[in-house]
Amino acid sequence: MSSQKRRPQPRKGRTAAAVRTSRRRPDRALGLVGIAVVLIGVTLVFALRPAHSDPGLQLGDHWHAALGVYACDHWEGDGSWATPFDRSGEPVKAGTTTYAPMHSHHDGLIHMEPAGSADTGSAASLGNYFTFNGFELSSTHVKFVSADLRNGDRCGTANGTLHWLVNGKERTGDPTKYLPRDGDWIVIAFLPETKKITDLGKPPSFGHLATAESSPPPGHTSG
Ligand SMILES: [Zn+2]
Ligand SMILES: [Zn+2]
Repeated sequence: MSSQKRRPQPRKGRTAAAVRTSRRRPDRALGLVGIAVVLIGVTLVFALRPAHSDPGLQLGDHWHAALGVYACDHWEGDGSWATPFDRSGEPVKAGTTTYAPMHSHHDGLIHMEPAGSADTGSAASLGNYFTFNGFELSSTHVKFVSADLRNGDRCGTANGTLHWLVNGKERTGDPTKYLPRDGDWIVIAFLPETKKITDLGKPPSFGHLATAESSPPPGHTSG
């Protein structure tokens, strides 16, 4: 008697559970799709965010970075070198009469002052600064003021190689692609193996960063 009564109960229970499970399946599937959509959305937001938060030099910016080029045993040009200016005092690209949006004012600083959108972002590169000023740079070669050195050339009695560094940390790869940031100090050094670029310290122009805007040159009032 009692066993007959008990048997149907578990069956009913199982049936009810099966019904509940079958009802829940579409909900669960929809839930998983929803989670996937949210995850894709979050991933896209994070993937796109760096491009928005770090666009590089923009119109209206006026940035300064200190540059030093070390040739074997001395800072070439010290903290000042002649960069091309026209008669009105406007900095121009070497060999042209076109405004140079990256230039120096006899202070060893890279002044980054874009005049149009073509001067912004990836165009504000260390390589373009060298080109605008009539110098040359690659990962194995530097031509700057009176130095013209490439890997394998002699530094005294030893062979030298080119190194570069930003804010105290040595970098590898193509220095021409580097996009200087406001306040950076950048060292390009041609050194024998016995010398380390990290031992050179800050370039002579570093002290000019703090007063970059205080003495605007005639004809180019923005500094
Ligand atoms: Zn300037
Ligand atoms: Zn400036």
